[in-house]
Formats: sequence, structure tokens, C-alpha cells
Amino acid sequence: MSEAFPRRDGRLHAENVPIEQIVEAAGTPVFIYSASELDARYDALDAAFSAVPHTLCYAIKANMNLAVVNRLVTRGCGIDVTSGGELFRAQLAGGDPSQFVYSGVGKTDAEIDHALDAGIRMFNIESREELRVIDARAAERGVVAPVSFRVNPDVDPQTHPYISTGLSNSKFGIPIAEAVDAYAEAKALEHVHVVGVSCHIGSQIVNLDPIVDALQRVRSLVTELRDAGHSIELLDVGGGLGIVYDREQPPSAAEYGAAVISSVGDLGCHLIAEPGRWIAGNSGIFVTRVLYGKDNGDKHFTVVDGAMTDLIRPTLYQAYQRIEPVGPPRENTRVVDVVGPVCESADFLAQQRELPILERDDLIAVHSAGAYGFVMSSNYNGRCRAAEVLVEGDQFEIVRARDRFEDLIRGESIPEGLG
Ligand SMILES: *Cc1c(COP(=O)(O)O)cnc(C)c1O
Repeated sequence: MSEAFPRRDGRLHAENVPIEQIVEAAGTPVFIYSASELDARYDALDAAFSAVPHTLCYAIKANMNLAVVNRLVTRGCGIDVTSGGELFRAQLAGGDPSQFVYSGVGKTDAEIDHALDAGIRMFNIESREELRVIDARAAERGVVAPVSFRVNPDVDPQTHPYISTGLSNSKFGIPIAEAVDAYAEAKALEHVHVVGVSCHIGSQIVNLDPIVDALQRVRSLVTELRDAGHSIELLDVGGGLGIVYDREQPPSAAEYGAAVISSVGDLGCHLIAEPGRWIAGNSGIFVTRVLYGKDNGDKHFTVVDGAMTDLIRPTLYQAYQRIEPVGPPRENTRVVDVVGPVCESADFLAQQRELPILERDDLIAVHSAGAYGFVMSSNYNGRCRAAEVLVEGDQFEIVRARDRFEDLIRGESIPEGLG
């Protein structure tokens, strides 16, 4: 699974298409996704769970482009949504709501109604108050909502604090020690039906120990709940499997699947996994064009047309993303900060990075940009959000047009009735 962005005749390609050719059609900055890589990753993870009944519910928040989501649901993938907007997208992309799970700490009444009407497979409930609200909304519609609690097992996933969710001080889930009481309350309600247990401890996890540790705790809970008379048919193990950005050595899909199955595979549950980053992250790159070089003091800056508004991971998580020139390799290098045009010192794609010498109009590729890239972009500084392109073999299509100026002011007006 490394041939998605190969170098051929010295030039970087997306599958069989030269990046320069895509840029000619789509401009810069641009996100480029490999359809074959998305397929291969879905298939690899699906195969890793093949020994047990399972559904992969792609965490659509990682990359919600309709073309990307459509690609996955066409292969039988379910979806994990975290908002009404994501539910709307998942449906529009052709997903089957009976394969959707809904996670998130702040589901609004309208979002709950939308999910009930769509007929999703399971609500992953994050508080007892939410349980009561879902019961009431379902009662009003004369339906029964399939639910699980997202339990917080209090384990440290050993990742960045902003993407750690399974520690007892995080806002996510209910403390695992309170789960038995919460399930008892759910059982007494008429318009919810307990179908499972869910758990998601964080993202970019590169060590299996915390995952196995969390699943051991969930495993005891499932046994306890069954003893209390709940039928726990679904076990949602969350997402979070990490990918290679730099020199990480995450477990393979097969190792991850084997670890999950050896922890909870004998419970007889239908397993659900919610991979996001693992499917989309290394299926995409971000391509930006060099505008200027400048020296301030003894620091060299390479100013590019992509910015933190397009790809915020380096700024938000101090994340490393590998960068290389699209054109032929060069011998000389220098240490630079790769920065965007936005009026913030936090606007960088790389800091103190040794890169081949770059010149005006050079194209550079920022790797591992398929997940938590475009989806976190904004229009700050009046910037048009980037185009997105899907490639398959020697063909490509623009699957989201670059914002136009009209898009920047959509819905705005200068009031006529005030003052
Ligand atoms: C973000 C999230 C995921 C996906 O995480 P990845 O690290 O992208 O796999 C899965 N489940 C829940 C509940 C999430 O919030």
C-alpha cells in the first residue's frame, strides 16, 4: 500500500497520473486522493476482522468528501457520524443508514430526530441525560431507538492530548464504573433498546497495549451486563489506529484485528470498528506551490500558497507531515520553515525542516493529508478552500471545486432595516 503516490521518471505521481497534470487542471493548493489506496485500506482492515462477524463504520469526520465516502460505502462500508451534517453527507454519498452509528457528546434534538427518521443502527450515547432525551424523542415518533453507551475505560492512549478521549478527565463517554447503573436505567425506558457497548479511546494510537487494556475492561463490562439481563449484541471498539507520518511503527491492520479479536472475539458480539485516519490519512496528499523564499535573520522561510486554513494539523497538533518536491529530486538542501500566506505566526506546514532547495513556482507535496486535512479547513483571511481531486489509475476527477469568491459570502447580507 505504498504505490499510491509513486515517483516515476523522477516526478511524483498520484497512481499513474503526474501531479503536474492534476495541478494544471485543478490549480493549487489541492488535495489529491487515491481511490485504489482507499479501496486497499478498507479491504485490508475488513480482512483483518474476517474471522468474526463485523462491520467497519468509517469515521466520516476524517474525510467527508462525497466521492471518498461513496467509494467506501460501495464496498460495503458503514459510517460513523458525529453530526447531522455528517449524517446528511453519509446518506447523500449512498450509505445505508442501517449501517450507521452515531457518536458525539452533543447531539441536538434535531440531530436525534434526523437519525431516528433515517433508521440508524445504533446511537452511541455519551451521558444519562442524553439517554433520556433520545428516549423522549423516540417516544414522540412512536419508535424505539437502538442504543449503546460509550464507556470511558480510563486508559491513556499515549497520543496527543487533543486526540486522547479515553481518560477519566475527558468529556467523552460515561465512566465505566457507572455503566451498570446507566444500562439499568436504559432498560427501564420504553423507547430505547440496548443493543451494545461502545468505546473509543483516542486517535493516532501506535501501540496496541492501551487498546487491548481498554478492551479487557470493556470485556468485563459486557459479561457483567449480560449477567444483569442485557442482550449485548454489538461491540463497537472505536477507531484510532495510527498511521505512519514520520517514523512511527504502528501495528498493521492484521495485527490490530488480531489483537481486537483475541481480546473480545469470543464474546459472540458483532464487532464494529470506526477507522477514520487509517483509511484516509495516507490515501491523500496536499499539493501547494512555492510563492517566495525569504531570509529573516538566520532563518529561511519558504512561502507557499497553502496554509493552516487548508491543513491545520501541523499548527494544531505540532504534527509532522512529510514534504517533498513534486519535480525531479535535487542534490542541495537547506533547513527551512514552510509557511503559508495567513497573518498568523502559527501558519506553517513545517518548521526547521531540511528540504531540497525550493524556488518560486515549484510544487511540493505534503504527505499523509487525506485525513483531518480538508475537513478542518476554513475561510479565515478570506481564503478560498482548496480543490479536491480523486484519482484512479490513469484517470482523475475534481470532486470538489475550489471555493469561488461568491462562496465566501454565501448567506451574508448588509442589513437594510437597521440604523
Ligand atoms: C474520531 C473518532 C473516530 C476515528 O478516529 P481515527 O483516529 O480517525 O480512526 C472513531 N470513533 C469516534 C467516536 C471518534 O470520535
